[in-house]
Amino acid sequence: MKSYSTLLLDLDGTLFDFGSTERIALKKLFNHISLEINEENRRIYHEVNLLCWQDYEQGIISMERLKVKRFEDFLAVLGLKWNAKELSELFIEYLSEEGIVIDGSISTLEKLKKNYKLVLITNGIASVQRGRLKDSNTEHFFDSLVISEEIGYQKPDKRFFDVALSMADSTREECLVIGDGLSSDIKGGRESGIDTLYLHLNTPCLANEGDYTYEAGSYAEVLKLLEK
Ligand SMILES: [Mg+2]
Repeated sequence: MKSYSTLLLDLDGTLFDFGSTERIALKKLFNHISLEINEENRRIYHEVNLLCWQDYEQGIISMERLKVKRFEDFLAVLGLKWNAKELSELFIEYLSEEGIVIDGSISTLEKLKKNYKLVLITNGIASVQRGRLKDSNTEHFFDSLVISEEIGYQKPDKRFFDVALSMADSTREECLVIGDGLSSDIKGGRESGIDTLYLHLNTPCLANEGDYTYEAGSYAEVLKLLEK
């Protein structure tokens, strides 16, 4: 492996368990509007949310719009008459309270921190990501936090990575992107000329060779690759 000095790390699905965070926040939200907490209602939310995120990552809608639109669409499907903006604010508050990390991620960060500059790169809502970092007491691992809502660009946009390099005070050659997102982290890194490590925890490697520079299926494999 080439020698890198800076790791650009994705948050959700790479270090943090967003699925569990979202599940808890949705439960609180459904309780608030007296909606039955069941798989069907969850599925409806996941579907409209996914479509909104796809539009956001393609630059079709803004983050501000995403936050509210997903609840407008959700309420429309269910035929409910709540205020989407209010629900959005409440949901964001619930999400920001749950910093649930993936097993083994903290010890991995501790080990990597000894030899690398760590920079967080995340497509997310700033208050949610910052709240979860605080709740999990992990903010101190990172030299900088690059959050799409704050910088105005999102992965895989090349401009997101340009800002990340400048915030990391590192060159392309010094950096390695580590993430689970093929369409965000890996595509973005590749198109920006930054090497990538595709992390697929508990899932098979879904990418084609040539899409990524390296791949790993566990934190142990990541540490082995990055041993110095
Ligand atoms: Mg991710």
